[in-house]
Amino acid sequence: MTDLTQLGVKAIRDGVAAGDFTAKEVAEAFNAAVAGAAQLNAFIVATPDHALAAAEAVDAARGAGDDLGPMAGVPIGMKDLFATKGVQTTAASHILEGFEPQYESTVSQKLWDAGAGMLGKLNLDQFAMGSSNETSYFGNVISPWKSKDSNAALAPGGSSGGSSAAVSARIAPAATGTDTGGSIRQPAAFTGICGIKPTYGRCSRWGIVAFASSLDQAGPMARSVEDCAIMLEAMAGFDPKDSTSLDLPVPNWTASLDADLRGKKVGIPREYRMEGTDEEILKSWDQGIAWLKDAGAEVVDISLPHTKYALPAYYIVAPAEASSNLARYDGVRYGLRDLPDGAGLQDMYAATRAAGFGDEVKRRILIGTYVLSAGFYDAYYTQAMKVRTLIRQDFDNAFGECEVILAPTTPTASFPLGDKLDDPLAMYLNDVFSVPASLAGLPAMSVPAGLNSAGLPLGLQIVGPAFGEQAVLNAGLAIEQRAGFTAQPEKWW
Ligand code: GLN
Repeated sequence: MTDLTQLGVKAIRDGVAAGDFTAKEVAEAFNAAVAGAAQLNAFIVATPDHALAAAEAVDAARGAGDDLGPMAGVPIGMKDLFATKGVQTTAASHILEGFEPQYESTVSQKLWDAGAGMLGKLNLDQFAMGSSNETSYFGNVISPWKSKDSNAALAPGGSSGGSSAAVSARIAPAATGTDTGGSIRQPAAFTGICGIKPTYGRCSRWGIVAFASSLDQAGPMARSVEDCAIMLEAMAGFDPKDSTSLDLPVPNWTASLDADLRGKKVGIPREYRMEGTDEEILKSWDQGIAWLKDAGAEVVDISLPHTKYALPAYYIVAPAEASSNLARYDGVRYGLRDLPDGAGLQDMYAATRAAGFGDEVKRRILIGTYVLSAGFYDAYYTQAMKVRTLIRQDFDNAFGECEVILAPTTPTASFPLGDKLDDPLAMYLNDVFSVPASLAGLPAMSVPAGLNSAGLPLGLQIVGPAFGEQAVLNAGLAIEQRAGFTAQPEKWW
């Protein structure tokens, strides 16, 4: 019998519908894979019963001849940033340890309604702040990949590092991610899987623990472009409970997938040829350009002149919003409460926040509070918001000349855990290619492009105009078909 854990979303759904195997068999296979992969630390909690119950419901529906949903029988991993009713939701922070929401996030509910089940809550960087998964209170995730040259434990990327590790290690066929400045794309690139951040507003933020609300977007992480399209259709849609939700119908992206790019123009932003970018990344970018030409696209040189200001602007806007969003964790309403003997209310707030937040979260709150303070607001926050407008205009101008933009996802491949831990700026530089699309609210995807000389995955990024997910997915498909990426990590866990 086929190893069910090798199957992706579409293969599982279609196999269940055709009766090749039952949803229960699939859930059991992945539950066992999760249980056997504890060394990766990809999950904060496993929820095998949730996966089994959803599978049994799908099998029963099939038996009764009922219509099956687009994710029917697919057990997925849920980033532990999505509120799941009655299941601990922590954002990988001590301050939320033990918090069991009384409600379900819109995105997770939509996935359950589409027939998916939950394997567990996936580890992440604390409050989604980080690029290596080392800021989690529950310990770092270890990438299933190893370099040919050393046995060092590698970063799965962040913040959706539990998601990327689980999907690439075949312990989940797909997982949810969230992307504020690159947290779907960068981990996808580091682990050889696909991930798409849709246009800001496509997926409801309701029930997702907020980091930077004007940037946060949910999206799928899976092993193929088509699997991402199927899952994104299930996740997206208008939600009156999120005031920034797009009131637009969800297109049938899957049905319109088409890798024929004849007549399409692909822009290559010259400012992304940055110093410090790994030679092999630049080579894979050139390869990507050749692949898109082969798919019929015309390649044009474009300029995004404010690119170099994107990273500093992001690291002002995101912490500013975080400092405001995280004010709610005060020891009164959720999770942890640290109430020293004889302490007053202020002392309780301070003690709870001191004990509950990790160092990176505290760093962001301090930066954010500083840039929003009366004396510095104009110099930092207002200035960063102006830069954000300029970056959006850069993209608007560029999309007058091309349908999509091709760039690397990250400046390097995955790095050893611990390498950048003492140097926040080096860590932030990981996001240099991903934050511009985030600031502009644009759809952007990472697709595996191949392995570097150390045997580690590299990703290519496609950015589209607002609402242009179809063009992004189509260019992604053209790359996927030509890259023929089938590599997977050798099991050592
Ligand atoms: N690495 C970026 C940060 O630390 C992006 C995080 C994210 O997209 N959630 O802010």
